[in-house]
Amino acid sequence: MSDDCVFCKIASGDIPAALIYQDERFVAFHDLSPQAPVHVLVIPRTHYTSLMDVKDAAVLGDLLEAAKTISSQLGIAGTGWRTVINTGQDGGQTVMHLHVHLLGGRFMQWPPG
Ligand code: 5GP
Ligand code: ZN
Repeated sequence: MSDDCVFCKIASGDIPAALIYQDERFVAFHDLSPQAPVHVLVIPRTHYTSLMDVKDAAVLGDLLEAAKTISSQLGIAGTGWRTVINTGQDGGQTVMHLHVHLLGGRFMQWPPG
């Protein structure tokens, strides 16, 4: 837990949020500023500053498995969806707690900006 991290506070319940998924290691909730009909953030409960901070590759596999489970739960597994992990300044990362964006519910354009 990082004291000044908003996502740590959401995961711990210190900041109330409507969690749409939770297990022992991961939590998911709707993005504050949705960019698609479905825009969910999936995070590990453990504080990793970014993808670069993760030493155990199994964490990343399990994080993506959680995203798959959530896509089924939200009814978009069949129509498809996009995962985005922004990393660092040029990656556009604004919250320094590792998170996967799960976007769907419409056709997603490519390339990103
Ligand atoms: P990043 O730009 O770091 O990849 O994504 C951070 C995301 O977190 C943004 O899409 C932003 O809208 C979302 N966000 C930032 N603060 C909060 C918050 O307090 N609650 C929720 N639900 N989303 C947040
Ligand atoms: Zn954190």
